Amino acid sequence: MNQIQNIFKNAQINTYCVLQARFKSKTHWAQLRKKTGPKYKALNHFDDFYGSVFGSKWDSMREALLRKSKYVALINNYGDPEETMDYLAQRGAHCLKNLMSIQKNFHDQYTPQKETETKNNQDKNLDNYISKLQNEDIAKIYPQGENIPEKLEFSNNKILHAEQKQMENPEISKSYTLDQALEQAQIDDSRIIHPSMGLSSEALYQYVPATKIKGLDDWVPESFHYSFYSKRDTDFPLIIEPETEFEFPEHLKVMTYEMNSEYDKFPEPKRCKTGVFNYYPLDGASVLGVLAMCLRGGERALDLCAAPGGKALAALQTLLPDVLVCNDASVSRSNRITRIFSDYLMDYEVGNKWQERVLITRVDGRIFTDDQGFDTVLVDVPCTTDRHSVTEDENNIFRPDRVKERLRIPEMQTQLLMNALRLVRVGGAVVYSTCSLSPAQNDGVVRAALQRAFGEHSVVASIRDLTKPFSALSSTLRLGTGQARPKYGQLVVPDIAANFGPAYISRLVRIK
Ligand code: SAM
Repeated sequence: MNQIQNIFKNAQINTYCVLQARFKSKTHWAQLRKKTGPKYKALNHFDDFYGSVFGSKWDSMREALLRKSKYVALINNYGDPEETMDYLAQRGAHCLKNLMSIQKNFHDQYTPQKETETKNNQDKNLDNYISKLQNEDIAKIYPQGENIPEKLEFSNNKILHAEQKQMENPEISKSYTLDQALEQAQIDDSRIIHPSMGLSSEALYQYVPATKIKGLDDWVPESFHYSFYSKRDTDFPLIIEPETEFEFPEHLKVMTYEMNSEYDKFPEPKRCKTGVFNYYPLDGASVLGVLAMCLRGGERALDLCAAPGGKALAALQTLLPDVLVCNDASVSRSNRITRIFSDYLMDYEVGNKWQERVLITRVDGRIFTDDQGFDTVLVDVPCTTDRHSVTEDENNIFRPDRVKERLRIPEMQTQLLMNALRLVRVGGAVVYSTCSLSPAQNDGVVRAALQRAFGEHSVVASIRDLTKPFSALSSTLRLGTGQARPKYGQLVVPDIAANFGPAYISRLVRIK
């Protein structure tokens, strides 16, 4: 009996000590566990990457990203549009088209000279960041510090063709492909970790060369993600010209609250007399992608990554395209397009009218084919969805089991944009957009796609600079300037006063 009492007593003391230690600690254990979750990983990654590239501008973007975002009201032309606009105007909202026409006259003093300087700065910051990552990758591959190459190149996406170059010119001995580098690496066996040991794949990624060399083929270096951006050859026509054909579509009705407005919340959407909802709430930055399409009456348009359908709905609300093909590789997500269209487009289910004009397809956008050619293609690609990544753990691209998928995002985006450039007719336009601040997924992908579309398919497209038309949005949202100004597109940066985005929009017109 005494023995049992002693065991209980000891157990009580132990439990007490553990509990005491737990409660004594300033940070609760549950909080500690949570802080290593995907959204914290995303935030740490962005602090490192965006902090290096955008400098002090990142602080305010970061703060806004972590706060509740703003949205605008896309008025439904198939509901009671005038009534809805009056109703929202009484609650302090303004018509975006009117705000833009008021602002238009104030933005004629744009100075390209100054911007060129800051663009170069962004390149320099990003180059430094990429070389830091490369050094870290090299240190992982060469833990013993022998035979270290100056630079790793990546052969598996066939971008850099380093192996080929080396065969043609044996003098180039310091440039290694990743596979060559791994072949020659001195392996530190103490770092070999087998997945059967039950570690998370996150831990495995920290023991990189071993997993690759042991044939587990489950490793991609972090710097791979940036390899598109770091390649800056100009062996293709890189044309940038001002956009002169921009017009706000006559029938597109968007209501928004101005920057710093006291109000920023819309009431719930309501069913109209016609049975459809009166407005669709969406991020104001999404409207810019549709504006950049510069749609014209009677056009045949394609939305290559359309689900859940917000931008496709806005494109239809312009009442301009004759045909809109809404494609998405995900079946479940593309079912949401159908639901949204049934809720917003009158007689969408019953009449044949819509079925002739709006086609929903479920094909991988990288291999989507068409024999007629489109007038306009929107490529709103899957990306790191920065706002979602720092605020939600669910379906987060920074989850350890999605590392490979995340690091390969720029390659996927480039393939989608390349295919869009092939699908558009000569004279037609492609709009590329992301909801990320990453220059690697934005400018980097535009450049890589232009280069590869030219090299592999002789397609030439010019970049249309939307700076001037979009400057009229300055009372509504914040566009990246200085270090946050991209070279080939426009960047909507989150801001506490105008918490939209992030979104990157680049307009390309095919000329060959
Ligand atoms: N444009 C949409 C909107 O405004 O509602 C949002 C598009 S979302 C940013 C990206 C979409 O790309 C996702 O719905 C995803 O299913 C789709 N996607 C991912 N990979 C794809 C691929 N290879 N081909 C086509 N769509 C793809």
